Amino acid sequence: MNLSPRLKKIADFVPDGGVMADVGTDHGHLPIYLVSLHKAERAVAMDVRPGPLSRAQQAVEMYGLQDRIELRLADGLAALKPGEADTVVIAGMGGGLIRKIMGEGKHMWDSVGHWILSPQSEIGETRHWLEEHGFSILKEDMVLDAGKYYVIMDVVRGTMHYDHEYEYTFGQDLIRRKHPLLKEFLEQEQAKLQVLREKLDGQESERSRTRLLELDREEELVRSALKATENTDNIDNKRHTDKVE
Ligand code: SAM
Repeated sequence: MNLSPRLKKIADFVPDGGVMADVGTDHGHLPIYLVSLHKAERAVAMDVRPGPLSRAQQAVEMYGLQDRIELRLADGLAALKPGEADTVVIAGMGGGLIRKIMGEGKHMWDSVGHWILSPQSEIGETRHWLEEHGFSILKEDMVLDAGKYYVIMDVVRGTMHYDHEYEYTFGQDLIRRKHPLLKEFLEQEQAKLQVLREKLDGQESERSRTRLLELDREEELVRSALKATENTDNIDNKRHTDKVE
Protein backbone atom coordinates (compact mmCIF):
# COMPACT_ATOMS: atom_id res chain seq x y z
CA MET A 1 0.00 0.00 0.00
CA ASN A 2 1.55 3.27 -1.16
CA LEU A 3 0.49 6.15 1.02
CA SER A 4 0.49 9.83 0.06
CA PRO A 5 3.18 11.87 1.91
CA ARG A 6 0.41 13.27 4.18
CA LEU A 7 -0.97 9.86 5.16
CA LYS A 8 2.57 8.47 5.52
CA LYS A 9 3.39 11.23 8.04
CA ILE A 10 0.16 10.46 9.92
CA ALA A 11 1.09 6.75 9.94
CA ASP A 12 4.52 7.64 11.39
CA PHE A 13 2.73 9.32 14.33
CA VAL A 14 0.84 6.14 15.29
CA PRO A 15 2.77 4.32 18.06
CA ASP A 16 3.76 0.74 17.17
CA GLY A 17 1.60 -2.12 18.44
CA GLY A 18 -1.89 -2.11 19.86
CA VAL A 19 -5.17 -1.28 18.20
CA MET A 20 -5.72 1.88 16.16
CA ALA A 21 -9.08 3.31 15.25
CA ASP A 22 -9.45 5.48 12.16
CA VAL A 23 -12.40 7.90 12.26
CA GLY A 24 -13.44 8.87 8.73
CA THR A 25 -11.34 6.17 7.11
CA ASP A 26 -12.72 6.76 3.57
CA HIS A 27 -10.67 4.36 1.37
CA GLY A 28 -9.17 2.60 4.43
CA HIS A 29 -5.60 3.14 3.23
CA LEU A 30 -4.20 4.16 6.63
CA PRO A 31 -5.37 1.10 8.64
CA ILE A 32 -4.43 -1.23 5.75
CA TYR A 33 -0.90 0.22 5.67
CA LEU A 34 -0.45 0.04 9.46
CA VAL A 35 -1.86 -3.46 9.89
CA SER A 36 -0.14 -4.98 6.85
CA LEU A 37 3.23 -3.70 8.11
CA HIS A 38 2.37 -4.98 11.63
CA LYS A 39 2.72 -1.44 13.01
CA ALA A 40 -0.77 -1.98 14.43
CA GLU A 41 -1.92 -5.39 15.65
CA ARG A 42 -5.49 -4.64 14.66
CA ALA A 43 -7.59 -1.70 13.50
CA VAL A 44 -11.14 -0.43 13.60
CA ALA A 45 -11.92 1.57 10.46
CA MET A 46 -15.02 3.75 10.73
CA ASP A 47 -16.90 6.08 8.45
CA VAL A 48 -20.27 7.82 8.65
CA ARG A 49 -21.07 7.14 4.98
CA PRO A 50 -21.81 3.65 3.57
CA GLY A 51 -20.08 4.42 0.21
CA PRO A 52 -16.59 5.03 1.61
CA LEU A 53 -17.01 2.20 4.10
CA SER A 54 -17.81 -0.33 1.38
CA ARG A 55 -14.79 0.93 -0.62
CA ALA A 56 -12.67 0.41 2.49
CA GLN A 57 -14.21 -3.07 2.95
CA GLN A 58 -13.26 -4.06 -0.63
CA ALA A 59 -9.69 -2.80 -0.10
CA VAL A 60 -9.41 -4.68 3.23
CA GLU A 61 -10.57 -7.89 1.49
CA MET A 62 -8.17 -7.32 -1.40
CA TYR A 63 -5.31 -7.23 1.11
CA GLY A 64 -6.76 -10.26 2.98
CA LEU A 65 -6.89 -8.33 6.28
CA GLN A 66 -10.56 -9.03 7.23
CA ASP A 67 -9.53 -10.79 10.44
CA ARG A 68 -7.46 -7.80 11.64
CA ILE A 69 -9.39 -4.76 10.38
CA GLU A 70 -12.97 -4.34 11.50
CA LEU A 71 -15.22 -1.91 9.63
CA ARG A 72 -17.94 0.05 11.39
CA LEU A 73 -20.52 2.43 9.96
CA ALA A 74 -20.56 5.16 12.58
CA ASP A 75 -20.77 8.87 13.27
CA GLY A 76 -17.49 9.88 14.89
CA LEU A 77 -16.61 7.83 17.96
CA ALA A 78 -20.18 6.61 18.60
CA ALA A 79 -19.43 2.97 17.75
CA LEU A 80 -16.22 2.73 19.76
CA LYS A 81 -16.13 1.54 23.35
CA PRO A 82 -13.54 2.43 26.01
CA GLY A 83 -10.65 -0.03 25.84
CA GLU A 84 -11.22 -0.88 22.16
CA ALA A 85 -8.48 1.40 20.78
CA ASP A 86 -5.06 2.51 22.00
CA THR A 87 -4.71 5.20 19.34
CA VAL A 88 -7.39 7.13 17.47
CA VAL A 89 -6.68 8.96 14.21
CA ILE A 90 -9.00 11.75 13.03
CA ALA A 91 -7.57 13.25 9.85
CA GLY A 92 -8.55 14.82 6.58
CA MET A 93 -11.37 16.93 8.03
CA GLY A 94 -11.87 20.52 9.10
CA GLY A 95 -11.01 21.51 12.66
CA GLY A 96 -14.67 22.21 13.46
CA LEU A 97 -15.69 18.65 12.59
CA ILE A 98 -12.73 17.18 14.49
CA ARG A 99 -13.71 19.19 17.59
CA LYS A 100 -17.34 18.05 17.22
CA ILE A 101 -16.27 14.39 16.95
CA MET A 102 -13.95 14.75 19.97
CA GLY A 103 -16.64 16.60 21.97
CA GLU A 104 -19.25 13.93 21.27
CA GLY A 105 -16.75 11.16 22.05
CA LYS A 106 -16.10 11.98 25.73
CA HIS A 107 -16.61 8.31 26.64
CA MET A 108 -13.25 7.61 24.91
CA TRP A 109 -11.17 10.45 26.35
CA ASP A 110 -9.49 8.61 29.19
CA SER A 111 -8.93 5.20 27.63
CA VAL A 112 -7.22 6.29 24.40
CA GLY A 113 -3.44 6.75 24.78
CA HIS A 114 -2.80 8.91 21.72
CA TRP A 115 -5.04 11.01 19.51
CA ILE A 116 -3.46 11.71 16.14
CA LEU A 117 -5.27 14.73 14.77
CA SER A 118 -4.81 16.50 11.47
CA PRO A 119 -7.27 19.38 11.17
CA GLN A 120 -7.28 21.01 7.75
CA SER A 121 -8.79 24.30 8.93
CA GLU A 122 -9.33 26.20 12.21
CA ILE A 123 -6.09 24.73 13.53
CA GLY A 124 -5.59 27.49 16.12
CA GLU A 125 -9.15 27.05 17.43
CA THR A 126 -8.47 23.32 17.70
CA ARG A 127 -5.31 23.90 19.79
CA HIS A 128 -7.34 26.17 22.12
CA TRP A 129 -10.13 23.55 22.33
CA LEU A 130 -7.62 20.85 23.29
CA GLU A 131 -6.20 22.99 26.11
CA GLU A 132 -9.69 23.86 27.39
CA HIS A 133 -10.78 20.20 27.44
CA GLY A 134 -7.79 18.69 29.27
CA PHE A 135 -5.63 17.60 26.35
CA SER A 136 -2.00 18.32 25.68
CA ILE A 137 -0.16 18.42 22.35
CA LEU A 138 2.99 16.30 22.76
CA LYS A 139 4.43 17.00 19.33
CA GLU A 140 3.49 18.30 15.92
CA ASP A 141 4.78 17.90 12.41
CA MET A 142 4.10 19.50 9.07
CA VAL A 143 4.08 18.01 5.60
CA LEU A 144 3.74 19.45 2.11
CA ASP A 145 1.61 17.26 -0.14
CA ALA A 146 0.44 18.23 -3.64
CA GLY A 147 1.17 21.90 -2.93
CA LYS A 148 -0.74 22.03 0.39
CA TYR A 149 0.63 22.23 3.91
CA TYR A 150 -0.78 19.86 6.53
CA VAL A 151 -0.29 19.82 10.31
CA ILE A 152 -0.32 16.59 12.32
CA MET A 153 -0.58 16.52 16.13
CA ASP A 154 0.13 13.84 18.72
CA VAL A 155 -2.37 14.59 21.49
CA VAL A 156 -2.65 13.00 24.94
CA ARG A 157 -4.68 13.67 28.09
CA GLY A 158 -2.89 16.36 30.09
CA THR A 159 -2.42 20.07 30.49
CA MET A 160 -0.89 22.62 28.17
CA HIS A 161 -0.62 26.36 28.01
CA TYR A 162 1.06 28.70 25.57
CA ASP A 163 2.00 32.27 26.43
CA HIS A 164 1.33 33.74 22.99
CA GLU A 165 -1.61 33.62 20.61
CA TYR A 166 0.71 33.00 17.64
CA GLU A 167 1.76 29.72 19.28
CA TYR A 168 -1.88 28.56 19.19
CA THR A 169 -2.28 29.78 15.62
CA PHE A 170 0.85 28.17 14.21
CA GLY A 171 1.92 25.53 16.76
CA GLN A 172 4.34 26.04 19.62
CA ASP A 173 6.16 22.77 18.91
CA LEU A 174 6.68 23.64 15.23
CA ILE A 175 7.96 27.11 16.19
CA ARG A 176 10.19 25.78 18.97
CA ARG A 177 11.78 23.26 16.60
CA LYS A 178 12.06 25.88 13.83
CA HIS A 179 10.29 23.51 11.47
CA PRO A 180 11.58 24.37 7.97
CA LEU A 181 8.12 23.96 6.40
CA LEU A 182 6.59 26.29 8.96
CA LYS A 183 8.94 29.11 7.96
CA GLU A 184 8.11 28.50 4.30
CA PHE A 185 4.37 28.43 5.10
CA LEU A 186 4.57 31.64 7.14
CA GLU A 187 6.43 33.46 4.38
CA GLN A 188 3.73 32.41 1.89
CA GLU A 189 1.00 33.54 4.30
CA GLN A 190 2.77 36.89 4.69
CA ALA A 191 2.89 37.34 0.90
CA LYS A 192 -0.83 36.38 0.56
CA LEU A 193 -1.83 38.86 3.27
CA GLN A 194 0.22 41.58 1.56
CA VAL A 195 -1.64 40.98 -1.74
CA LEU A 196 -4.96 41.18 0.14
CA ARG A 197 -3.89 44.41 1.81
CA GLU A 198 -3.00 45.98 -1.54
CA LYS A 199 -6.46 45.04 -2.87
CA LEU A 200 -8.23 46.52 0.16
CA ASP A 201 -6.15 49.68 0.54
CA GLY A 202 -8.07 52.68 -0.70
CA GLN A 203 -11.49 50.97 -0.42
CA GLU A 204 -13.86 52.98 1.74
CA SER A 205 -16.61 50.50 2.64
CA GLU A 206 -17.28 49.44 6.25
CA ARG A 207 -16.61 45.86 5.19
CA SER A 208 -13.15 46.57 3.83
CA ARG A 209 -12.28 48.61 6.94
CA THR A 210 -13.28 45.65 9.14
CA ARG A 211 -11.30 43.28 6.93
CA LEU A 212 -8.25 45.58 7.13
CA LEU A 213 -8.43 45.45 10.93
CA GLU A 214 -8.54 41.64 10.76
CA LEU A 215 -5.60 41.72 8.36
CA ASP A 216 -3.58 43.82 10.84
CA ARG A 217 -4.12 41.13 13.44
CA GLU A 218 -3.34 38.24 11.07
CA GLU A 219 -0.16 39.97 9.84
CA GLU A 220 0.95 40.58 13.42
CA LEU A 221 0.50 36.87 14.25
CA VAL A 222 2.51 35.81 11.20
CA ARG A 223 5.26 38.37 11.96
CA SER A 224 5.51 37.23 15.59
CA ALA A 225 5.65 33.56 14.60
CA LEU A 226 8.33 34.26 11.98
CA LYS A 227 10.35 36.21 14.52
CA ALA A 228 10.01 33.36 16.99
CA THR A 229 11.20 30.79 14.42
CA GLU A 230 14.32 32.91 14.03
CA ASN A 231 14.85 33.21 17.76
CA THR A 232 13.18 30.68 20.01
CA ASP A 233 14.69 32.12 23.20
CA ASN A 234 11.36 33.77 24.01
CA ILE A 235 9.68 30.34 23.97
CA ASP A 236 11.96 28.89 26.61
CA ASN A 237 12.88 25.43 25.58
CA LYS A 238 10.92 23.73 28.31
CA ARG A 239 7.68 22.37 26.98
CA HIS A 240 4.49 24.04 28.02
CA THR A 241 2.69 20.73 27.87
CA ASP A 242 2.41 17.90 30.32
CA LYS A 243 1.04 14.43 30.07
CA VAL A 244 -1.20 13.17 32.85
CA GLU A 245 0.02 9.68 33.75
N1 SAM B 1 -9.11 10.12 7.00
C1 SAM B 1 -8.85 9.99 5.59
C2 SAM B 1 -7.66 10.82 5.18
O1 SAM B 1 -7.17 11.61 6.02
O2 SAM B 1 -7.21 10.72 4.03
C3 SAM B 1 -10.05 10.36 4.76
C4 SAM B 1 -10.45 11.82 4.82
S1 SAM B 1 -11.91 12.11 3.89
C5 SAM B 1 -11.57 13.66 3.19
C6 SAM B 1 -13.11 12.41 5.15
C7 SAM B 1 -13.90 11.17 5.51
O3 SAM B 1 -14.52 11.42 6.76
C8 SAM B 1 -15.01 10.86 4.51
O4 SAM B 1 -14.91 9.51 4.10
C9 SAM B 1 -16.28 11.13 5.30
O5 SAM B 1 -17.35 10.27 4.95
C10 SAM B 1 -15.82 10.89 6.72
N2 SAM B 1 -16.60 11.59 7.76
C11 SAM B 1 -17.11 12.83 7.74
N3 SAM B 1 -17.76 13.10 8.87
C12 SAM B 1 -17.65 12.00 9.66
C13 SAM B 1 -18.14 11.65 10.94
N4 SAM B 1 -18.87 12.50 11.67
N5 SAM B 1 -17.84 10.43 11.42
C14 SAM B 1 -17.13 9.55 10.70
N6 SAM B 1 -16.65 9.82 9.47
C15 SAM B 1 -16.90 11.03 8.94
